[in-house]
Amino acid sequence: MARVSDQRYHGSGNIMRILIANDDGIYSPGIAALARAATKFGEVRIVAPDVEMSSASHSITANRPLLYKPTPLAAAGDVQAFRVNGTPADCVALGIHHWEQVDVVLSGINLGTNLGNALWHSGTLAAAKQAVLFGARGIAFSTPSTDAEPDFAALEPWVDRVLRLLLPDTRLTLVNVNLPALPTGLRWTRQSVRHYDGKVVPSKDPMGRTHYWFTVVPLDETEEDTDRWAVEHGMVSMTPLRLHLTNDDELAEARRRHPL
Ligand code: MN
Repeated sequence: MARVSDQRYHGSGNIMRILIANDDGIYSPGIAALARAATKFGEVRIVAPDVEMSSASHSITANRPLLYKPTPLAAAGDVQAFRVNGTPADCVALGIHHWEQVDVVLSGINLGTNLGNALWHSGTLAAAKQAVLFGARGIAFSTPSTDAEPDFAALEPWVDRVLRLLLPDTRLTLVNVNLPALPTGLRWTRQSVRHYDGKVVPSKDPMGRTHYWFTVVPLDETEEDTDRWAVEHGMVSMTPLRLHLTNDDELAEARRRHPL
């Protein structure tokens, strides 16, 4: 019988089903940290790409079959884990296919922030978006990546705090969470989208041919209360997102100016 005080049970009295995915690959330390933090909130299963798929965005594999292989993952404790030779969005599709009535997909913890324009190419966020397209909820987690591995033990209390806040609130369907290395608080934020922070860097290959690296550089100017602002100020950024991209203002304007 479900105990009301047990955080693993949600409103219907059923234990919450939490699918964990990422884009860094199943052997990333970030996914094990997220799975460990999630176990106190419900039944947890990991389905993740067999190799790193960062920046895969919401791409899906439509031209070859996918495999779904049980994968022992000591770092994640006794959590069942499966690896897929596909994208983050594929992993969520296969994960939900094999495990009905998933309530929420947690994605990450990504090694590297997903702020502002990064949301367009983030595979971490795509896994959470895919959950929403399948009628579940999605929460993406990211943290800055430097030469040193993130201190996941230090982040765990903050991940726990975010999960205690977000998981019971079913009105929040899709949330992008970014944790600074040493958080001091939580903040609700907007996505920062004012400037594009991509940069093309030309170089030469060993044969003397010109090639290019597309890199992302931080912006100097950051608007207050955006995702980037919060992380730069040491706070955990939580941005509720939506999937519909229609610009309602411009649609209304277009209909008025160009009646068809
Ligand atoms: Mn990644």
